[in-house]
Amino acid sequence: MMKRISVMLSLMLGVAQVLMGASNALSDGKAITAGPDGKLVVEITIEPSIGKPMYAITYDGKTVLEPSALGLVSTDADYSKDMAIISAVVEPVSKKYSQNHIKRSKIEFIANKMIVGLGDSSGRHVMDVEFMVANNDVAFRYVLPKVGEPSGIRVMDETTSFTFPAYTTTFLSPQSDPMIGWKRTKPSYEEEYRLDRPMSECSRYGRGYTFPALFKVGNDRWALISETGVDSRYCASRLGDFDGHSYKIEFPMAEENNGNGTREPAFSLPGATPWRTLSIGASLAPIVESTIYWDVLEPLYEPTTDYAGGRGTWSWIVWQDASINFDDIVKYIDFAAEMGYEYTLIDNYWDNNIGAERMAQLIAYAHGKGVEPLLWYSSSGYWNDIEQGPVNRMDNPIVRKKEMKWLRDNGVKGIKVDFFGGDKQETMRLYESILSDANDFGLMVIFHGCTLPRGWERMYPNYVGSEAVLASENIYFQQHFCDVEAVNAATHPFIRNAVGCMEFGGTFLNRRLGRDNNSGNVRRTSDLFQIATAVLFQNPVQNFALTPNNLTDAPSLCIDFMKQVPTHWDETRFIDGYPGKYVVLARRSGNVWYVAGVNATAEPLSIKLDLSMLEGTDATLYYDVYASKAVRKRLAKGEQSTADDFVAKVRSVKAAALTHVEILPNSGVIIVVR
Ligand code: CA
Repeated sequence: MMKRISVMLSLMLGVAQVLMGASNALSDGKAITAGPDGKLVVEITIEPSIGKPMYAITYDGKTVLEPSALGLVSTDADYSKDMAIISAVVEPVSKKYSQNHIKRSKIEFIANKMIVGLGDSSGRHVMDVEFMVANNDVAFRYVLPKVGEPSGIRVMDETTSFTFPAYTTTFLSPQSDPMIGWKRTKPSYEEEYRLDRPMSECSRYGRGYTFPALFKVGNDRWALISETGVDSRYCASRLGDFDGHSYKIEFPMAEENNGNGTREPAFSLPGATPWRTLSIGASLAPIVESTIYWDVLEPLYEPTTDYAGGRGTWSWIVWQDASINFDDIVKYIDFAAEMGYEYTLIDNYWDNNIGAERMAQLIAYAHGKGVEPLLWYSSSGYWNDIEQGPVNRMDNPIVRKKEMKWLRDNGVKGIKVDFFGGDKQETMRLYESILSDANDFGLMVIFHGCTLPRGWERMYPNYVGSEAVLASENIYFQQHFCDVEAVNAATHPFIRNAVGCMEFGGTFLNRRLGRDNNSGNVRRTSDLFQIATAVLFQNPVQNFALTPNNLTDAPSLCIDFMKQVPTHWDETRFIDGYPGKYVVLARRSGNVWYVAGVNATAEPLSIKLDLSMLEGTDATLYYDVYASKAVRKRLAKGEQSTADDFVAKVRSVKAAALTHVEILPNSGVIIVVR
């Protein structure tokens, strides 16, 4: 019955929209609208006893969010209670746009926009809540008018909450305590996910959870909560701990950024908050494929040059600090040239170990080889104890612009800025200032030790990716992260990488994580697993963890694949998977489809495929076999695998004939369809 009502509702709205453009969405004191196909329905009501604005969401007639709070509290007024809905207008919106650097290049966004006017007890219009309801996404934000004074608002609290049915399970990454970890650099979105846990389980630090946050509502609904459009006019937010009923939006912790800057954001009027987003579906497909994080935004400035993505080599990830010297960087420049890669990333301490003068020589050498160097900087500053240089060149606009001029004069095309101070508005201003100044000097920007990007691919054309994940460095640092590498790889496409570019720095082909390839942590996953992540993980510039010795000691089919793997994608589709267990995605670059999967379960996995949906007939199948029968027996007994246990194979097949593939545990599969 509920389903029929929602479909009828959308049909009625559809007719009204065709006739009038905008239509009234208010009836019986409720504001209600649906996505274009009628399945996703958002209803706004006022809780009668204290006048709290509330919203609820259903999908296909089933509850996704129970009535949940809306509202803001400013220094001047409390917009979370004693409110009334005074108007609600809905109109269809559609736009087509092109976007580089994300999971899809041509996007058509179709939604119903509903603006709900809220009035205070005297009936004065004080705030709008603007909703965008697409087929599988809801985005909403608070829009405040300027009526006389005040001219600005300081938001002391946002009461927005998310109330899921009690049987919901969670896939969450905790927010860290502030000012802890390496050189007091946390929080930096580098905490381990806990998967499929009850809502009642406490967060690790009692600080709630970072975005994005995935929820499984029964067996037929998924919802990914995040936010987008965060710039210098607000802080980045997170989810508070479960209070027994719901999760509430929380602002940064006071201690972040070494205590400097307020928790509470402020902006001038008229103005709006960032968008709160929910991607919702009966399967994980709408979550993996969602573009809502960019659909509701526009670029904040024009690019001064064409910021091309590409592949890079990165000496630091396996050879570490000791590799930041002239001779080793030359090796990695030559390695990039040999691979046909566009970039090489020169990490921390280049200012000290190489120096500006010899860096200019190195940059010229790289250019002679057709390779663009990317240079590392610390963001700090005073907000942590980082000593790796260069320091104090990105936090001050006078010094920063002088440095960026030096970079431009030497032909450098991009920088990586590391170790930020947290999520306060103060730090959002720094991100935006670095991006804006860098664009003036034709530089693209990668962030590490940082917050989640929130729509930045669209807002800032020279932004090309953020870490904001327990990235490849942890595989180098701790055996534990080798042991759980497959679980994490099977998690990120559904959560972290679904909402924004992820600068993971992966694809190790060393079997052990040491410079000599015979010491350090033991890799559990196969070579094919590693090259599959080059497709599974999306970032427009991928600085791979390959090392020069891999040209001769890694399987040539893997090196050949890595020479031609793209980082630019025109389309992304979910094929199959479950967070933390396995994932299979298809990504298209031009006319070529890349289907890639990894298996984090203990058993071989047979994946059903229908490649008829992908244009193309000839396919190349990359698959793993066990190195020997003895290996198969050993692993069947539950022993841990190593990279040496697998042998990667490749063969040509007809795409239509490929109806299923098998993926061994800790292994991967790739199908290239032309
Ligand atoms: Ca890091």
